[in-house]
Amino acid sequence: MKTIGVLALQGAFIEHVNHIEKLGHKAVEIRKKDQLEGIDGIILPGGESTAIGKLLVDFDIKQALKEKIESGFPVWGTCAGMILLAKKLIDDPIVHLGCMDITVKRNAYGSQLDSFITVDNIKALDDKPSKLVFIRAPYIEAIGNTAKALHTVDENIVAARQENMMVTSFHPELTDETLWLEYFINNLVIN
Ligand code: GLN
Repeated sequence: MKTIGVLALQGAFIEHVNHIEKLGHKAVEIRKKDQLEGIDGIILPGGESTAIGKLLVDFDIKQALKEKIESGFPVWGTCAGMILLAKKLIDDPIVHLGCMDITVKRNAYGSQLDSFITVDNIKALDDKPSKLVFIRAPYIEAIGNTAKALHTVDENIVAARQENMMVTSFHPELTDETLWLEYFINNLVIN
């Protein structure tokens, strides 16, 4: 059994907690930097990246979390979590944690297609079908040499991995599937 932290400052963190427990692992809601010590990996949830980024500073977690991720700690960012991990954002000078070699476009699907759902077979998940829920989602516009795409939708990268870091534009925790969480635990947390 692993202990997985979920950053619980804002956004869809309860859903991740429920999925972690559904798989028989222990979930911890993270609101203090000291809590980073007792966990095997962390999920940065979807929500509003500007708000979460500000709260990371206000709660004095940002620096400790950044250092931990840069020293190899397993992390999965969903949606706003992807934005927090990116080294660069399009049309936005802000960098939050700035750990992953990706350039991310926020609200990339514009106002008309703010939210949509698609079902795709995912190569990284042994070609299993997965329901991809996009909510005012970002995508990866450029990816560095050390990161690799895990999935694309209409030629846009919506899931990627770089060593101990993984990101998805969509929200698996809002479905009843745990495939992406299993991928995270089996490939990044247990290694
Ligand atoms: N649009 C949000 C942002 O820019 C992300 C949306 C989400 O996490 N579902 O932070």
